[in-house]
Amino acid sequence: MLFSKVIGHATLKAKLIGNIREGRVAHAQLFMGPRGAGNLPMALAYAQYLLCPDREAVDACGKCPSCIHMAKLEHPDLHLMFPIYFVEKKPKTCDQFLPEWRNSVLATPYLDVDKWREQLDSANKQLRMGVDIAQEIQRKLSLRSFMGGYKVMLIWLPELMDGTAANKLLKVLEEPEPNTVFLLVSNDPEKLLATILSRAQLVRIPALRPTDIAGALREQFPELGNDESMAIALRSEGDLLEAVEMANKGEEMLFVFFRDWLRACYLKQVADAIEFGDQFQALGREKQKSLMRYGLYLIRQCALQWQQVPELVRVLGQEQEFVQNFSKLLNERNADGIRQELETAHLHVERNANPKILFTDLSYRMMGLLRMKV
Ligand SMILES: [Zn+2]
Repeated sequence: MLFSKVIGHATLKAKLIGNIREGRVAHAQLFMGPRGAGNLPMALAYAQYLLCPDREAVDACGKCPSCIHMAKLEHPDLHLMFPIYFVEKKPKTCDQFLPEWRNSVLATPYLDVDKWREQLDSANKQLRMGVDIAQEIQRKLSLRSFMGGYKVMLIWLPELMDGTAANKLLKVLEEPEPNTVFLLVSNDPEKLLATILSRAQLVRIPALRPTDIAGALREQFPELGNDESMAIALRSEGDLLEAVEMANKGEEMLFVFFRDWLRACYLKQVADAIEFGDQFQALGREKQKSLMRYGLYLIRQCALQWQQVPELVRVLGQEQEFVQNFSKLLNERNADGIRQELETAHLHVERNANPKILFTDLSYRMMGLLRMKV
């Protein structure tokens, strides 16, 4: 991954490049930031720059043997660790899943754990990193550098390590070896051991700017117009993965579903609300999550409108019309409750609650909240 292929974050790139050029390479670094901001591509670009012997002022050369290996994620001095599902009677190590992981990242450098799970076809299996992986890390660290430079140990989503594995990792981090760099790439650093956090230099990757996302969308979906890409970019809240999913799945569908469902709730059309429960179930888990995230986004926009800070409202077209109308139903007594109900529902979808029961229940609560008067 070249820095030039990582979307946005110009200042951060310049800082990372400057650090390497000035020989300030911390032994352990934590690339942290929200989903779809680009932690993984940024860490890979950093690794490529670090390992490239012909690095240029603003990027790796892209042509040397090191860069050619890196482009395929097959550099012998780049060790890759990531969460896997456990197969009975098989070693619980990353190596057996390495080809799949490489393909997933090469196809979607902004990979997240759900996409990775889909790729593994392991919808119902838990992805984790056990003690075998910690031992695999130790074993790989004992290998000498093939190309005579740095060895890079990239650990993707270390927050999914079991307690024992995390403690073993901590031991390794406490005894730095020369020319070995740990790149921890996390979406949820709060779940990491505080002692691991304190050992690592923090590289914060902020959510992407809407203009950066809109530009990336137009490149990937040339059929999208300027307005539409910008509308999706605004709605994605800096999450490129989400933006691409929305463009793929048709954000129109989410909007229509959400709008019509709320309308049915407001009109207390019980039979319709139950029908929406069936439709919600049929969407499948990923779309259910998208719908909940989308709903929350739209409700937040309505709340801003209701609180009379329309300069912060970031919607266009038919969403704008919806926000203007729906915000009139909000008041002191229900605004927070509606947001909380959607947040809770999103959490329950993530935890695999029965979608039909969940959504029907949500509909009834929404009916009560929407009719609440001050
Ligand atoms: Zn190179």
